This record gives sequence, structure tokens and C-alpha cells, in this order.
Amino acid sequence: MENKKIDTLCVHAGYTPSKGEPCALPIYQSTTFKYDTTDEMGQLFDLKADGYFYTRLANPTNDAVAAKIAALEGGVAAILTSSGQAANFYAVFNICEAGDHVVAASTLYGGTFNLFAVTLAKLGITCTFVDTDASAEEIAAAFQPNTKALFAETIANPALVILDIEKFARVAHENGVPLIIDNTFATPVNCRPFEWGADIVTHSTTKYMDGHALQVGGVIVDSGNFDWDAYGDKYHGLTTPDESYHGIVYTKQFGKKAYITKATSQLMRDLGSIPSPMNSFLLNIGLETLSLRVERHCSNAQKVAEYLNAHDKVSSVCYAGLPGDKYYDLAQKYLPNGTCGVISFELNGGRDAAIRFMDSLDMANIATHVAASKTMVLHPASHTHRQMNDEQLAEAGVSPGMIRLSIGIEHVDDIIADLEKALKNA
Ligand code: PLP
Repeated sequence: MENKKIDTLCVHAGYTPSKGEPCALPIYQSTTFKYDTTDEMGQLFDLKADGYFYTRLANPTNDAVAAKIAALEGGVAAILTSSGQAANFYAVFNICEAGDHVVAASTLYGGTFNLFAVTLAKLGITCTFVDTDASAEEIAAAFQPNTKALFAETIANPALVILDIEKFARVAHENGVPLIIDNTFATPVNCRPFEWGADIVTHSTTKYMDGHALQVGGVIVDSGNFDWDAYGDKYHGLTTPDESYHGIVYTKQFGKKAYITKATSQLMRDLGSIPSPMNSFLLNIGLETLSLRVERHCSNAQKVAEYLNAHDKVSSVCYAGLPGDKYYDLAQKYLPNGTCGVISFELNGGRDAAIRFMDSLDMANIATHVAASKTMVLHPASHTHRQMNDEQLAEAGVSPGMIRLSIGIEHVDDIIADLEKALKNA
């Protein structure tokens, strides 16, 4: 599949049927796999032979979809997880342990922020958050001798901040750590962070990759570019014998695939969180049309953002495709074909007008989700941030009137007609 365009990779990468085999990726809905001799299976347990023995560690359907996403991102290997949350947890926990530290951009998805600020701290891994727009010097100042990774989102959910990936990659590498990027909102169709210096990419595949709101899933992809051996003491889990795996040294035995092999053979073995093969099959169907859908999500969102921006009941629109948006220039550099389908905006009438607007929509679904084929809308102050008063909302960067709109792939005229009718009542 080398040298093929991303549209072709979406359809073909990861699974090439031989003569007489099914054209559609088969669902290997089996926990286990059969062998004829004791030694055959023993070789698999020692990681000395390739093959499947238990689905928590590897499954042909899951592996085919992971290989497709690795090809889309231009990485050397990938592992699927049961959710985006699991992907971000494993991406960090694969190289961090109690006593370690990570630096992360502050504009993260709320679940990831909690993971880093609260749950990882309970495991002894602390996090310093830096302003996503901070200078390289300010980001570098957050590093400590025990810092093991720098983490950020290409397009932050829900702030829609665009990351200066090259700046973050430079700071990470000057401090001898990998840059981990959550590329969920951009997708590899609009941005491939490895081309800008990122080392590891994660996704909530629940979003655009699936695209139909069918399954919850995640993925971690490794570029294979970070030189773990150059910082062998720091990443000793990869560079010294793993006593829980017969003394294997991952970098020695697996080279560029060391990081993903460790995530599979250690974290999946001990913590689980694999997707079901059925969910991976559904994800694969979504991936086949990813490039087509992303193009439509972005062209629709651009037109809707322009429409809202010109509407007299709308006080502000946040969408990096709009000239004049704070992140327009960064979006032109890193995401020249479009950013994503998510827009946030505010009405002059604030919270009450937002509620009247939402309740007057006919076609758009009120739903806690983004990035699906259907247009979906959420009022953070009434939903995801409902427990907060106005003061707390301001601290979280959510204004009481903010509406988050995830533009689907319907005809844009019908989306705008739905918004127009609802705005009349707002
Ligand atoms: N990363 C981003 C950018 C997200 O938007 C989300 C969920 O919305 C996640 C990670 C978590 O993914 P999941 O819901 O699949 O666990």
C-alpha cells in the first residue's frame, strides 16, 4: 500500500484478501485460537513466533484495523483500545510510572484533563498544564528532570484551539521526551502530526473515524521515530529486561515497534481494554469513507460558520476556518484542507436564548457527541458542565450561552434551514 493516496488507504490498507477470501474484512469473533502442539503455543507466549492465541493480546480483525490506522497516520505500528480514554491512558502509562511527570497543553478534552489532573496523580504520575499558546520557553520551563512526555490535541475539544505542532515537537525533543498528540478532531485526512515532528498519535475512534456513532474505541499509533535507547535510563521499561516477560528488552527485540509491542504484551495483558472484534469491524466500515466524510463535514462547517458569523442574533463564532479567527493562520499551516466539523458560537441573548434555540431545532439532534454523520448540538452549561455556576463556567472557559455544534454530512442547505428556523425563536 506504499505511495497510495489517503483515500485509497482508507479503503484498502490493513486487509488484502487472497484468492477466494472474503472481500469484506472478516469478524474473528473468537476469544481464542487453536494449535496442534504444546511447543507451537509456547513459542507464541515467548513472543518468538507470530500468531494469535488470545484476543486480549491480539485478534486478526482488530489487527487489520490497527494496521489501517497506522498506514493512515504514516506510523510503523498501532494498537486499538476499547475507548479514546484508554488510548490516552495507555499512551502515557506505557512510558511513565509512579514518580514521573508529564507536561500537557491546558486545552484538552475534559475527560483527558481529569485523567491527567486526578487519576494519574493517584498513581503517582503528576502533570503540569501549560497554556497551549505559550512560548517555547514557557513550555520548556514546565519540564522537570522526571518529565517523560509532552501531550496536546491537534484541535482541542471543545476550545477549538489549533496546536502549533512544530513548536511543541521542538520543545519535547530539546528536553529528550516524545510528543504525544491526540489527533481525534483533525483525523489523518486533515493533518498527519508525524509529518510535523510528533512521535506518538492517539485517537478517540468513537468520533470521525467511526463517524456513525456506532462504537466507542481508541487507537495509539507510533511513528517509530523516537530514539528510546538514546534516553535508556529514562525509558528503562523499554530498554532494560522486562522480568514479567522472560527478560525481553523491547527496543532490542522489536526495534521501531518496541513501544506498541510493550503496550500490547504488558498493558493489554495486565489491564485489558481491547475492543470487541465486532466493534473493530464497524470501525473499519467507518474508516473506508473517512476521507469523503471529513471533506463534507469541513465544507458544511465552513458554510455554517460563515452563515452564523453574519447573523445578527449571533454574538461570536469560534471556527478556525474563518479569516479573523485567532487560530486561522495556524489552521492554514497545519490543516489547509479544513479543520473539523465542530463549531462553537454564542447568541446575543445568552443562556436563555441558547436554550430556546436548541429546543426549536428540528433536524439537529441534542446529543453528547460530536463527529457523527448527523448534525448534533450541545449546550455545555446545561449538559456537560451542568453542575457549575456561572463563575465556575467562566473559569472552565465555557460561557453560559455557548453552543457546541457538530456539523454532519446532510445537505448544508437543510442544516442552515434548521438553524434559521431555530434562530427566529432564540
Ligand atoms: N480525546 C478527545 C479529543 C475526545 O474528544 C474524546 C471524547 O470526546 C476522547 C479523547 C475520549 O474518547 P472516548 O469517549 O472514546 O473514550
